Amino acid sequence: MNSRTFDCTTESNVILDNNNNNYKLKLKRTTSMEEKKNLLSNIKMGTREWARREINCIKGCRMYCLYCYAKGIAKHYKRCTEETWKNMEINSRAVDKKYSKVRKKGSQPYDIMFPTSHNIILDEPYFSACTIVLKKLLEADNSVLVTVKPSLKVVKKLCKLFQDYKETMTYRFTIGSTSSRILKILEINAPTFEERLESLQYATVNGFNTSISIEPLLDSTPFKLIERLEPYLSPLNYERDIGTIWIGLLKTQYIPIALRTGEIKEFIKFIKPRLKFEHVYQYYEKLYNHPRIKWKESIIKMMILNDVKTQGITS
Ligand code: SF4
Repeated sequence: MNSRTFDCTTESNVILDNNNNNYKLKLKRTTSMEEKKNLLSNIKMGTREWARREINCIKGCRMYCLYCYAKGIAKHYKRCTEETWKNMEINSRAVDKKYSKVRKKGSQPYDIMFPTSHNIILDEPYFSACTIVLKKLLEADNSVLVTVKPSLKVVKKLCKLFQDYKETMTYRFTIGSTSSRILKILEINAPTFEERLESLQYATVNGFNTSISIEPLLDSTPFKLIERLEPYLSPLNYERDIGTIWIGLLKTQYIPIALRTGEIKEFIKFIKPRLKFEHVYQYYEKLYNHPRIKWKESIIKMMILNDVKTQGITS
């Protein structure tokens, strides 16, 4: 592998460490194990952090991200293999059914997250299946978080089709690295960084609400990503979760052991030390008061376990 990929001498790839052991956000007291358990049990997990319901209409996903949680679950229940996950199959029941307004109560800012276990791609019949479902969800007056690894052509078409729903539809674009090379290693068939950035810019300029998911973070730190993405985001509305940037960690356990060779093996070697508290804390502290940043459960949990301030516990 070309060593440039994970060049530890560049600013974005250094391992952050706190030599002085000066943890400004450490709690004044140590929380008991019971308190920690309580706090951890109240954390919303995964998609539940964002929306009350999740809807999908395709089984499998051609993007083929190695770390994909949905793939891991489908494999566990023998619904697919590593190979067949890429073969997409439309779930006609999900496309044909009627959808109504979500009645479930919750603190999440969105009624529905769509999709959660596949991407929206331009190829037919998949694009039409997705837009039929999305239209029904929006027509039923749901607020919908459209979560994709965006290709520009898809975003352009979605913006055209759904221009009457700018108030209730928000894009959440997943962008975990500024390096298209790193994205290619982990998210085999997904769009490049440049295309995702252009998609973000397009959607925002065209008046849609946009937000970002840096989950999983595939760079050493999120600073460079934030610097590149922030100028193109919608104005911030923290309560409605618009213009926000969510940061979460890679869960390496979903990367199949059999695939951990060559570049993938090198990447895992690169990322592992960057998933440790000592490293994560350094950017957590620097970004703690950043108005757009929200932390995913993987980081919140880590901070609770290490007696560091989080939104739930601040003294
Ligand atoms: S785009 Fe999402 S659903 Fe598709 S493989 Fe990647 S992580 Fe899984």
